[in-house]
Amino acid sequence: MINPPLIAKAAQFAPPAWASLLGLLYPPRCLGCGARLPDETMPLCHRCLLRLERPASSPFDVSAAHLPEAHAALDGAFALWLFDAGGVVQRLQHALKYGNRPHVGLALGQVMGMTYRATAAPLPDLVLPIPLHRTRLYERGYNQSAMLARGVGSALGAMVSETLLARRRATRSQTNLSHQRRWENVAGAFALAAPEAVAGRRVLLIDDVFTTGATLAAAATVLQDAGPASIHAATLAVAR
Ligand SMILES: [Zn+2]
Repeated sequence: MINPPLIAKAAQFAPPAWASLLGLLYPPRCLGCGARLPDETMPLCHRCLLRLERPASSPFDVSAAHLPEAHAALDGAFALWLFDAGGVVQRLQHALKYGNRPHVGLALGQVMGMTYRATAAPLPDLVLPIPLHRTRLYERGYNQSAMLARGVGSALGAMVSETLLARRRATRSQTNLSHQRRWENVAGAFALAAPEAVAGRRVLLIDDVFTTGATLAAAATVLQDAGPASIHAATLAVAR
């Protein structure tokens, strides 16, 4: 059997007639229940989407992150869903991150933005995705957090910049690292291209999953020096 990411890749670059033929051969299916979906825009059916569990409070208390650096650097954090290893949200994250499906990020980012708007969190005027190092960006072809950020920005009517924050050095994956090692791994990894673009702004940082908050805190620490009005974070999910 041909692997699904290759099919998705082929559909992305194929002319419409081929794309619809591929759609007939391999109809998109819900990542939760396997039901057929009308198109590839959102990889979950409505029923499964509404079943995903939300954090008890959102914006949630950053002190739940167990990482002192995260409390110091972030004014608050928002997450759309709770993340469980092996759960539907992880399947969504994998589809976004490793499935060559950037459009999934746009759709999920819009849901994030619309939900964020309904909370009491201050509306941002600048949305910044956590950047990938250029070697990883080259391998993956797109930055999943930037796709989420575009969706969030369009739902909130806020400016999105994918170039203000940059990764100065490649970092190893945070998976399987302890809290303290995660912080050491990312501390000092980010740089801000134009501090004046951040001064006085309400900044919203975007990442896919909030685990310890180390990555977001490292990026927020760099932003703090530029004097923003506030720094919040929004992620697709927060680890339970
Ligand atoms: Zn479903």
